[in-house]
Amino acid sequence: MSIPHAQDIAQALVDWFCIHGRDYPWRRTTDPWAILVSEIMLQQTTIPTVLGRYERWMQQFPTPATLAAATEETALRSWEGLGYYRRVRALQAAARAICQQHNGQFPTEETALRALPGIGDYTVGALLSFAYNRPAPLVDANVSRVFARLFNDPTPVDSPAGRKQQWQLAAALVHPTHPRAYNSALMELGQTICTSNTPDCPRCPIRSWCRATDPASLPVRLPRKEITSIEHHDIFHLTTDGLLLEKQSGGKRHEGMYRLPRRPAEDCQAYPHLADQKYSITRFKVTRHLYQAPPDTPAQPGEEFIPLHQLPATPMASPDRKIITRFLHS
Ligand code: SF4
Repeated sequence: MSIPHAQDIAQALVDWFCIHGRDYPWRRTTDPWAILVSEIMLQQTTIPTVLGRYERWMQQFPTPATLAAATEETALRSWEGLGYYRRVRALQAAARAICQQHNGQFPTEETALRALPGIGDYTVGALLSFAYNRPAPLVDANVSRVFARLFNDPTPVDSPAGRKQQWQLAAALVHPTHPRAYNSALMELGQTICTSNTPDCPRCPIRSWCRATDPASLPVRLPRKEITSIEHHDIFHLTTDGLLLEKQSGGKRHEGMYRLPRRPAEDCQAYPHLADQKYSITRFKVTRHLYQAPPDTPAQPGEEFIPLHQLPATPMASPDRKIITRFLHS
């Protein structure tokens, strides 16, 4: 694909980034492991949330070998607060593959990077450009918004045709000698100037090439999946043996993590109601009704009493830890 003024656009982005690029810990390193950790964390989690956890994680797991050697429970516990726990399982699987297949050395070739568990097109582009400064394309939500506007393209960015187009544009535009700064600039432009609601076009370094006639109307997206409301009925059962919790299994989103035991709604009708908790997970709006279990409630298969001193090291999703902490201290 040939794009008019591609070199000028790429150079303008690099020049702008050299002056306006923000300083993040993951931008101060070319260590591919540190970059992989930051990129996995930043997928679906905001920069302020990641900033509070990235450096702590890197102190605990400074190399692939340190994460490969940790138990899954330790990794899940350390990931708490970042959500989307499949990511940490994939990160640990990648760390183990690096140790087993590459002697602990992070691979440098694209085919070897692609073969690592959980590594897709975006992460390969991030590793090649940010760690190795190679001219690799990269597309995320910020980049696709900038491209849709820059080329005034109404193709839905989340459609197969839209995705293909975005990656072709990314490959054609990437700066040949400064891909690290260029890809960072493109993402930063989408985060700070070409933002989703009100793009600040007068401050944009590539405005002279931008074809958008109504930037706020772009990018176009396919209709969203509807939000689904679900209700759970959970019990709180604290005995001298500890707090009754269920370890999740069976390939569920939170596999390996613990949660309050779940019961059919009709079983809970006779129990004292403790609280309602509302939270969202992806496209689900969850309401948890929490009940005080009778003292003689037995553990069901998959459930166990966790001694209170072990709770801090027991992995669980943030809503569970929040409500458990509240009732343990009330
Ligand atoms: S000129 Fe405006 S719409 Fe075009 S890329 Fe820049 S910020 Fe986005």
